[in-house]
Amino acid sequence: MLTTNSETFSQERSHQLYQEAQQLLPGGVNSPVRAFRGVGGDPVFIERADGPYLYDVDGHRYLDYVQSWGPMILGHTHPAVLDAVQAAARHGFSFGAPTEAESQLARLVIDSVPSVEMIRFVNSGTEATMSALRLARAYTGRDKIIKFSGCYHGHADMLLVQAGSGVATMGLPDSPGVPAQTTQNTLTADYNNAAEVEQLFASYPDDIAAVIVEPIAANIGLVPPVAGFLEKLRELTQKYHAVLIFDEVMTGFRVALGGMQERVKITPDLTCFGKIIGGGLPVGAYGGRREIMEMVAPAGPMYQAGTLSGNPLAMAAGIATLSELRKAGQYEALERKGQRLEEGFNKALQDNNVEATFQRIGAMFCLYFAREAVVDYPSAKRSDTQRFARYFWSMLKRGIYLPPSQFESCFISLALNDDMIEETIQAAAASVNA
Ligand SMILES: *Cc1c(COP(=O)(O)O)cnc(C)c1O
Repeated sequence: MLTTNSETFSQERSHQLYQEAQQLLPGGVNSPVRAFRGVGGDPVFIERADGPYLYDVDGHRYLDYVQSWGPMILGHTHPAVLDAVQAAARHGFSFGAPTEAESQLARLVIDSVPSVEMIRFVNSGTEATMSALRLARAYTGRDKIIKFSGCYHGHADMLLVQAGSGVATMGLPDSPGVPAQTTQNTLTADYNNAAEVEQLFASYPDDIAAVIVEPIAANIGLVPPVAGFLEKLRELTQKYHAVLIFDEVMTGFRVALGGMQERVKITPDLTCFGKIIGGGLPVGAYGGRREIMEMVAPAGPMYQAGTLSGNPLAMAAGIATLSELRKAGQYEALERKGQRLEEGFNKALQDNNVEATFQRIGAMFCLYFAREAVVDYPSAKRSDTQRFARYFWSMLKRGIYLPPSQFESCFISLALNDDMIEETIQAAAASVNA
């Protein structure tokens, strides 16, 4: 039973399932943004996915621009990945012992990202950033870290910190349950503001273990680094002997094979991965300079472990996904699709006289209902979220599945063809003024 989405758009089954789920799971979900709180209404329950499409339990089909929040860059159930996972499953689900597949995936990452000389696989992006910071602290013997306002690095206590306004401030916890002691070593600065970082280093020259940054701030929509910002972070961390950590959980293998560091030609000391490197299965990783990575147990004293880390099914999905991405022309194809979308969206905005800002890097984009370019968290917060919600629902009813929040990035997959991109632009033209 497959209907096209229309005026008669019904969420009957999704609604029933959501009512039930809310009795069983906090908020009916296992990760907050899935509950559609940013746009109101009931979330869509998904039945299955294939290539560029998601199918919901009420018989609707959508072009998917969420892609499980990033991993599905090849599209869903890509044959090479499906075959690899099925073959791996037949050999056993988990051994808790070394396998060749772990070295194969490690080799693929190391060959793609020159700053990575050694790597440790974990099970999520959260684990990757948490472990990379422990490693940076172990390596430097220092406790303080710097993060940026609006950058998300997973839900570890020390990273759930929002910056105060103005000059960089001492961190205050963002969530109840995070003890103040846990975040007292977390210093914050505004994204794209290297001067604040310079001041922090001047105040604590011998205490800062690491600067952790999203090289594109993509958890407040899509905010590119301004020219010189990341370069200055590299310079300051070198000057003060602190570790520079690029959190490329989202941008790794997304904006280039070598991630954002390839595009900006900066070599961080450590890099965090997740999302795409697992091809849709739960994988995270941190890697970087050999000298630092050799501090990780059992090679060195920094303890970090995982029962399911390097899981054979997850490694198989990662190997198949990265192998596809390493084929010639893939990122050029993604860029071309991105350009088409950008041109179409900008035309739709112009034709409809809508004041909004389309920001894009490669196969990631965000349409902000904001007049001016978004450069940091405060400017992102100036967007009109009610307007975004109306746009979101109008797109959904036209068969376009977008992230249900103004502050998330949309993703383009290789499975999207030109006709689908055209369909998306038509839907946008009809929705930007909703
Ligand atoms: C998604 C994300 C994380 C967290 O990864 P999980 O797998 O959800 O724990 C960390 N950092 C960035 C930049 C992310 O986008």
